[in-house]
Amino acid sequence: MYDAATDTGPADPGSHLTSPTTRAALRVQQGLLAAAREYLTGHGFTELLPPVIGPVTDPGARGAKQVDIDYYGHRYKLMTSAILYKQSSLLAFDRIFCVAPNVRLEPLETASTSRHLAEFHQLDVEMGGASREEVMRLLEELVVHMVRQVVTGLPGELERLGRDRDDFLGLLRGGFARVPHAAAVEQLRALGHPQSADTELDWEGEALLSAKSDAPFLVTDYPKGSRGFYDREDPQAPGRLRNFDLIAPQGYGELCSGSERTNDYAEIITRMRETGENPRKYRWYLDLVRAGVPASSGFGIGVERLTRYVAGLDAVWQASAYPKLPGVVAP
Ligand code: AMP
Ligand code: MG
Repeated sequence: MYDAATDTGPADPGSHLTSPTTRAALRVQQGLLAAAREYLTGHGFTELLPPVIGPVTDPGARGAKQVDIDYYGHRYKLMTSAILYKQSSLLAFDRIFCVAPNVRLEPLETASTSRHLAEFHQLDVEMGGASREEVMRLLEELVVHMVRQVVTGLPGELERLGRDRDDFLGLLRGGFARVPHAAAVEQLRALGHPQSADTELDWEGEALLSAKSDAPFLVTDYPKGSRGFYDREDPQAPGRLRNFDLIAPQGYGELCSGSERTNDYAEIITRMRETGENPRKYRWYLDLVRAGVPASSGFGIGVERLTRYVAGLDAVWQASAYPKLPGVVAP
């Protein structure tokens, strides 16, 4: 019986790489990424290679530490997400995507959530001119396409992993339910879980809702304090953000976060100050915003998280060839 509390990742790199489970999981991952590229390039998106270092990175990863590097005497960061570059890239192309590596030194206690790595990848998508509704529909269609291609193209790998088409009936139907954050909070309280109305759903709460569902669903309209300055505040509902998370069914939890973006210079400065960020650090980004970065919506799917769910793996590290569990020394 799998026990997350005592799980410290693979016994050694060699046995992990040669394990039939790892091989099947990585083939599923490759199938998901190939399907994503097929879908996105077919819908007019251009793939860009994302930067790995920069003067600043996404400050929105609460609880996780950023990693500094010495860049010719300047303090640079490893990317915790590609958000600043995704928005800026819309100056070149109005629909872009990338598969981006992220490094976040997550708190030690996250090593046993089965959902956290210190190094992982996001499939990042940004769509100029799109509303939240449009980008949520794109996300739905993209995820359905990715999973359908794996279900039809890699049945042998799924069988090896103990998964089959029936596990994805809810997902393949599409049309994912939308649950406003406030409603999710009420559902959790009715279940006896003390979820705060002003924060992200906590891991336990998210797992509870995820376990009760047989299809992915979207939680929308998170409260302002819970996210970075780039998630746009709803002009009709101050204090609410025009954002969303995609939550997997069967207890696998969050797969993706996305939002309509703030692209107004003054609004970004205000939101930076509200979130404790010093605008001076973001000079290159703010210069572009002031000159005019298009309005957009976008999202980032955790590649290892999605692989874990599709492959039905006990822990997210099984979806990485070289997993880095928070605090665990590994190649
Ligand atoms: P976030 O910007 O924190 O919402 O991250 C975007 C997506 O990346 C999430 O929806 C997850 O799927 C994935 N993700 C975030 N943090 C981690 C982590 N520490 N390990 C693995 N996947 C992660
Ligand atoms: Mg998130």
